[in-house]
Amino acid sequence: MTAQILDGTKIRGQIFGELKEEIAGLTAQGIRPGLAAVLVGENPASRLYVKNKIAACEELGLASWLHTPPASSSTEYMAQLVDDLNRDENVDGILMQLPLPRQVDSKRVLESVSPAKDVDGFHPVNMGMLVSNRPGLVACTPAGCMEMLRRYKIPIEGANAVVLGRSDIVGKPMALLLMHANATVTICHSKTRDLPAIVRGADIVVAAMGKAGFVQADWIKPGAAVIDVGTNQVTDPSEAENLLKNFPPRLDKFRAKGSVLVGDVHPDALFTAGTVSPVPGGVGPMTITMLMSNTVKAAKLRRGKASLVAGD
Ligand code: NAP
Repeated sequence: MTAQILDGTKIRGQIFGELKEEIAGLTAQGIRPGLAAVLVGENPASRLYVKNKIAACEELGLASWLHTPPASSSTEYMAQLVDDLNRDENVDGILMQLPLPRQVDSKRVLESVSPAKDVDGFHPVNMGMLVSNRPGLVACTPAGCMEMLRRYKIPIEGANAVVLGRSDIVGKPMALLLMHANATVTICHSKTRDLPAIVRGADIVVAAMGKAGFVQADWIKPGAAVIDVGTNQVTDPSEAENLLKNFPPRLDKFRAKGSVLVGDVHPDALFTAGTVSPVPGGVGPMTITMLMSNTVKAAKLRRGKASLVAGD
């Protein structure tokens, strides 16, 4: 038997439907939530990400603005731009597309974003709110993972959850969200001993390491829920053969294209897990969805309209 698929694209459709109604309601009250995106330089991947985010705003009826400072911009210039956006009453969310050019002090620029408009949830104030389980803006990828678990009714309370990775943008907030939802959480990182044994005890595994197919299928407890955050481009034919030997159509696609996107969990986990988020089509669509959701949340929070539950 194969695992149930946690379909991120399907959940995005559901949430977009809900958001459209909410945005239409706010617009009728004279409030049009809006996202300002800042894209510095010419990085093609960043351009594509920002384009998709602006397209999502347009689909939902959110206002959006795109600022494209040149790659040579200084920290001072960027901080001034953020300051202007902080002061702009029409702007509810500020998205600073990363990475910023080398000469820019990214930390300083990100910390200059008003916490009320920090729709990426990266600001230390919002991180602190999350630590203390108070309402705030939560990082989009872990918030999206939680939404997947909830919408597929995966039991979280009392579950043993293992988070692989401890980055500020995925692993740490993910572990906090699971803990606040009453899971018993273990956080693993590159110095963790005997990872397979720890993963084998997990009812929920969230993999956010950036290592293609690292988590082996036989580490997964039969029936466990697996959320695969990793997005890794594999181009080595022998690696692709090893990862996709049981998925001939995907292997054919790799042979035709020369690359394939895989998660941090070996695709064979489909045969041991109870539920699995696929890569692509799992967590990826949820991240952009939560960015939209955070923009609406920020618009409501700023106007005192949100009746928020912590971690909401
Ligand atoms: P990151 O900052 O590079 O963090 C990776 C984490 O994995 C670190 O904490 C690291 O441990 C840990 N790690 C590395 N090797 C390990 C090993 N052998 N055993 C156990 N832990 C190990 O990465 P990130 O930004 O969190 O992203 C993680 C992955 O998620 C990447 O593939 C990224 O592309 C993907 N991602 C996807 C989305 C999406 O929307 N789908 C969004 C964000 C990120 P140390 O702390 O000890 O170094």
